[in-house]
Amino acid sequence: MTTETECLFCKMVRGEINPQRVYEDEHLLAFRDINPQAPVHILLIPKQHIATLNDLQNKDLAGRLLTQVGTIATQENIAEDGYRTVINCNQNSGQEVFHLHLHILGGRRLNWPPG
Ligand code: AMP
Ligand code: ZN
Repeated sequence: MTTETECLFCKMVRGEINPQRVYEDEHLLAFRDINPQAPVHILLIPKQHIATLNDLQNKDLAGRLLTQVGTIATQENIAEDGYRTVINCNQNSGQEVFHLHLHILGGRRLNWPPG
């Protein structure tokens, strides 16, 4: 278990690490992935430390997270051509950072199905 003190994304929320921010409000933060898998690769996170999708209970926050995606995609100019959202959850998905995050990937044709 990662504590909020140690959590990489909580450090970003607190301003101890400074990613390239693309959106921020009271509840959410979005920033560019450090190892982009597509021309546009953004991570959207709740500011609250929630380890995995299994732990997301707050419907209002869930709504905020999902409804922000289209706005960010529009801002990044990938809304019309299309993009993919991914939330990895636990070991079988390869989740590496245990602070809930939604990947937004776009800017190229993406393969389906994913591996
Ligand atoms: P996941 O495998 O779904 O847990 O994704 C974690 C993502 O966080 C990966 O795509 C990493 O490239 C990304 N990441 C790790 N460290 C940083 C960082 N310091 N700034 C931005 N993105 C990061
Ligand atoms: Zn955290």
